[in-house]
Amino acid sequence: MINLQSVSVEYPNGVLALKDIGISISKGEFVFVVGSTGSGKSTFLKLLYREILPTRGSVIVDDQDVTQLDSSQVPFLRRKLGIVFQDFKLLPQKNVWENLAFALKVIGVNPRDIRRRIGDVLELVGLTHRCDSFPNQMSGGEQQRAAIARALINHPTILIADEPTGNLDPGTSWEIMQLLEQINIRGTTVLAATHDSQIVDRMKKRVIQLESGSLVRDVNKGMYQHSES
Ligand code: ADP
Ligand code: MG
Repeated sequence: MINLQSVSVEYPNGVLALKDIGISISKGEFVFVVGSTGSGKSTFLKLLYREILPTRGSVIVDDQDVTQLDSSQVPFLRRKLGIVFQDFKLLPQKNVWENLAFALKVIGVNPRDIRRRIGDVLELVGLTHRCDSFPNQMSGGEQQRAAIARALINHPTILIADEPTGNLDPGTSWEIMQLLEQINIRGTTVLAATHDSQIVDRMKKRVIQLESGSLVRDVNKGMYQHSES
C-alpha cells in the first residue's frame, strides 16, 4: 500500500529532514509516527500526499510512484487519501454540512449522492446533530470530528492524520483516536503522527519513530518509548 525506498528529503535551505528512509506499510494497518518536534514526521506525511517531492528515492502510495505524477494527476491521488491536521482547517464561513458538501461539489458529485454521503459520514463520526453549526460554534473535538468526516467523504483508502489531537485535551484526544481506530477497523489504512505518548502506549499499534530525520525504531504493538526493562 505504502512503500518508501532510500528516501531523503533536503529542503532548499539545506535542512536534511529525512535521511535514507525505508518503510513499508500494508493495507489495513494502523501506524503511529512518533518523534520529537522537527524529527521529520510532517515531512514524511507530506511525501505521501505529494505536498513535497523527495530529493532521492521512491514513494509508492496505493501502487503508484507518486514522485512520477505530474501536477495534473495530483488531485486524483488526493481523492484516494483523507488528510486531517492539528488545526482542523475547516472553512470558517461555512457550517459543517457546507464544509462537507464543498468537497463533493468541486468534483461534480450530484446533489442526491451529496446528501447521502454527508449523512453517512456525519453518523459515523457522531456529528449528525451539528450539521448546521459553524466551526466557531463547536468545541475542538467536534471540529476535529467534522474534519475527519470531510476526510472520509470520498471513501479514502488511506487516512493521514498529522497530530490530530495536538490542540485537544486528553479526554477528547482519546475519543478522537478511538474514532480513528474505528475507521481503521472498517478497512481504512491509518497513519497518525503524534506526540501523545499516553495514547500510543494505550493503543498498542505499530510505532514508527523518527529522530533527526532518521528512522530509529519500527515495532508492532509498540510503546511511545523503549521500555527500560
Ligand atoms: P515534525 O513534523 O516531526 O515536527 P518536520 O517534518 O516538520 O518535523 O520538520 C523536519 C525538519 O525540516 C525540521 O528541522 C524543520 O525545521 C525542517 N523543515 C520543515 N519544513 C521545512 C521547509 N518548508 N523548509 C525548510 N525546512 C523545513
Ligand atoms: Mg509536524
